[in-house]
Amino acid sequence: MDSFTLLHVLRTAGHRVTALSVNYGQRHARELVMASLVCSRLGVPHTIVDASFLAALLPGSSQTDKSVDVPAGAYDAPVMKRTVVPNRNMILASMAAGHALALKAEGIALAVHAGDHAIYPDCRERFIHLLRDAIRAGNWDPNASEESDALADMFEVKTPFLNFTKGEILAAGKDIGLEPLSYMQTWTCYDPTPEGKPCGVCGACVERAEAFAFVGWHDPLL
Ligand SMILES: [Zn+2]
Repeated sequence: MDSFTLLHVLRTAGHRVTALSVNYGQRHARELVMASLVCSRLGVPHTIVDASFLAALLPGSSQTDKSVDVPAGAYDAPVMKRTVVPNRNMILASMAAGHALALKAEGIALAVHAGDHAIYPDCRERFIHLLRDAIRAGNWDPNASEESDALADMFEVKTPFLNFTKGEILAAGKDIGLEPLSYMQTWTCYDPTPEGKPCGVCGACVERAEAFAFVGWHDPLL
């Protein structure tokens, strides 16, 4: 839902976008299928990176380790730390940045938001700034000539939702003309039922419900 809205916001702002999804062995692999559908409908180039080996490297998170239960309840509760995947955004953003630099793109965009701040330090402003600086310091300007020794100082790490709640992200989608039914094409739940419905109790489901209530929409997945 966050990435989906971000994709539309960027396109509405006139950016030419390439989408990257990463299979890092996450439980909610369904988001990858949804992302493919959305991108093919929009004609956005989309790559799915198979990094499923990460699940073996990163045991202990409910996101990647099937032996760890997905906690129920509000996202900011301490128990939600069980959903933290160690160093996830550094790993994912590094892949995205490498891809972007190889494509000579202006930067990357991530849909991190304020609701993530409490339990995911890699969604906070400090991390995003340091990440940007590390990418800039570690790379040549992809658009400079071969003789140039300019670093990638113009490379952007766009996080327009950094201080938004999930509700404010939906509101941003509404502002650019997205409708409740548009969100039929999104997936949030960490622990779907055997029938393939959102569980309704995991942190992601709770937060999604709050967001829909915030804009006064009915969630089309329910
Ligand atoms: Zn759920």
